[in-house]
Amino acid sequence: MAEEGDIFPTGLGVAEARALIVTIAQARRVPAESMPLPAAAGRILATDAIAPHDVPGFANSAMDGFALRGADLPESGEKRFRLIGEILAGGKAAPVVETGTCVRITTGAPIPPGADTVVMKENTRMEATRSEGDRVIVMPGTMPGANVRPAGEDYRTGDIALKRGCRLGPAQLGVLASFGMTHACVVQRPRAVLLTTGDELVAPGDPLGFGQIHDSNRYSLGCLLEYWGVELVRHERVRDDPAALRDALQRAGADADFIVSSGGVSAGEADFLPRLVSEIGKVHFWKVRLKPGMPFLFGQIGTAMLFALPGNPVSGFATCMALVKPALDAMRGVSQKGFMLRAHLRTGINKRHARAEFQRARLHCDENAVLWATPHAKQGSGMLRGVAEADALVLLPDGAREFAIGEVVDVMPLPGWPG
Ligand code: AMP
Ligand code: MG
Repeated sequence: MAEEGDIFPTGLGVAEARALIVTIAQARRVPAESMPLPAAAGRILATDAIAPHDVPGFANSAMDGFALRGADLPESGEKRFRLIGEILAGGKAAPVVETGTCVRITTGAPIPPGADTVVMKENTRMEATRSEGDRVIVMPGTMPGANVRPAGEDYRTGDIALKRGCRLGPAQLGVLASFGMTHACVVQRPRAVLLTTGDELVAPGDPLGFGQIHDSNRYSLGCLLEYWGVELVRHERVRDDPAALRDALQRAGADADFIVSSGGVSAGEADFLPRLVSEIGKVHFWKVRLKPGMPFLFGQIGTAMLFALPGNPVSGFATCMALVKPALDAMRGVSQKGFMLRAHLRTGINKRHARAEFQRARLHCDENAVLWATPHAKQGSGMLRGVAEADALVLLPDGAREFAIGEVVDVMPLPGWPG
């Protein structure tokens, strides 16, 4: 175990730990790559997306109806217009609209030359005449300029349409497609190796011997990382054996941008990681004033960052959310804003210690638009049920021990909330 004489910081506050991680991760920006649009969904934009042309590219109709000159509109009563042609969406050409005439038009069709207004179909009536063909009777109520979508009303040429660091969701992909783009310049997926350590671990599917447990962190942590867009290079289950751990860490350090390990980082007889990391790499800090998750270690093996999470399933989950996710955002140029929400506590809490604590809680928004967090009954660091039945982690800060009903606290929504 690493203890006396070690020269790395220890016992950091959560905010301090996160700030240090973010500083180091920011210096390890992941390179960009060009991806075809459908495959770029969920990825982070690496450069600003600039509008190459106006959207819409031409003035067009917002309604099905008749295009005419606004100056011709009746101030009161009805007025007859001569119908001189039509243009449908996708239509190539339309006649020039002159005073007293109109052109039938559908939504999305270019406004014909001479026209500046569209009267919706519902505000008109048709009248057939023998001598002059069809006439359109326009009822009062339409303002000049109505129902026309001017060129560039959504995006103007040169607008910064999407900022780098933004996540490409369905709407953002649609915007790029509306610019005629087929590819997006996105940040490469950070590559991670996941190591789960412990002699007691058995792969799900294999029978359990005496004292053995199934390796659940492999899936909960692996899924969390993949949910955030990480490319999981591989997972390895490693024995509590210094030589095996050293070998796995060194190979992981060579193959990944960062390593996430679980277990073996506390002060027990088989917790070899802190000593090992200080021998073959660097420990940036060890131990955070946090419950659960106190033994968390942040270090480096080769050029890869190492996030050594405690083995307890909830401790690993909470520290992954609180301390690994900010690093991922920093590596991809995503702003750290929006990391936390604020909610009122539904029940009072006495946490009986000064350390910061993450409690598992349900969230609900009441009829007055107030967000409430109800702590789960199962708060043990080994009880994954508390996480599985929660929507968020409530952060009870350093220092205070007593939290009253209604008190406002920071909450970190779990992946998938609100669903
Ligand atoms: P450790 O951090 O190695 O001292 O482990 C703390 C607790 O977490 C012990 O009860 C371990 O059995 C448990 N644990 C460690 N790794 C895993 C894992 N991959 N899946 C589920 N539980 C684990
Ligand atoms: Mg262990």
